[in-house]
Amino acid sequence: MRYREEFIVKPGAKLHLDQIDPAYKGRHESHDKAAPEIAASLEQMDRLQNLLYADGNQSLLVVLQALDAAGKDGVIRHLFTGMNPQGVRVVGFKQPSAEERAHDFLWRVHQNAPARGEVVIYNRSHYEDVLVVRVHELVPRKTWSRRYDLINDFERMLVANGTRILKFYLHISPSEQLDRFKQRLDDPQRQWKISESDYDERKLWPKYIEAYQDAIEHTSNDTAPWFVIPANHKWFRNLAIAEIISDTMDGMGLKLPSPRVDLAEIRKKYHAAADEHAPTKR
Ligand code: AMP
Ligand code: MG
Repeated sequence: MRYREEFIVKPGAKLHLDQIDPAYKGRHESHDKAAPEIAASLEQMDRLQNLLYADGNQSLLVVLQALDAAGKDGVIRHLFTGMNPQGVRVVGFKQPSAEERAHDFLWRVHQNAPARGEVVIYNRSHYEDVLVVRVHELVPRKTWSRRYDLINDFERMLVANGTRILKFYLHISPSEQLDRFKQRLDDPQRQWKISESDYDERKLWPKYIEAYQDAIEHTSNDTAPWFVIPANHKWFRNLAIAEIISDTMDGMGLKLPSPRVDLAEIRKKYHAAADEHAPTKR
């Protein structure tokens, strides 16, 4: 079975994150054994991304959501090894600015949606407005609970306009998160990332899980599915996401546009003389 089918959250299904093993490795035993498959997915993705750009009619939006240290940045770095940076854009969503807060919650998100031919990766997204906002009670329940429908409408509109949407939740265990925080503590290159609030947020873990489950259940649908990716093993997380993205792009019916000129004509007009002077092949 492909990971696309295995990890998709079926529309209307109940999601029980506590029953999904964050350390799952699927059909793979180790990173070493999986390496050729990872390379193949990246190669395929590279080819399809060029095609997406050349085709110029559709676009791809990848949404990454997760708790801290689950690997959003790592996924982005990995995906870029399989795509031409000219056709990919990463958009990070932090706490909204005063200007952003003065608008509806989708305003800043819509502005950054992909143009035709483009791949955009959201590092956090409009889902923060039903996650952190709910957990920290930044708006009343009445407000965030209405947002699922608004999100579905918004995403449906993007899809109708030619955008494919893939939404990934990177699923790690609390102990894996603590290990990663500890690694940051011991790594001078990453100590700057640490704040005490990261540790405080861990107390809210069950509330975040509840918020994620609700959000994913309400907004996983055929046109914009959610995938829950076991993410304790970084290589497995990267492999699964690359496979899902390349399988999806493969199904988008992308094709090279036909040439806009008469090739024979162009050849005759500009290359006939050059051909005469070309060195003869031995
Ligand atoms: P980071 O991704 O680690 O740089 O952190 C960005 C922070 O911004 C996270 O703590 C998010 O929860 C927070 N954030 C993102 N979007 C929103 C939002 N709409 N409302 C409140 N906080 C947000
Ligand atoms: Mg962070």
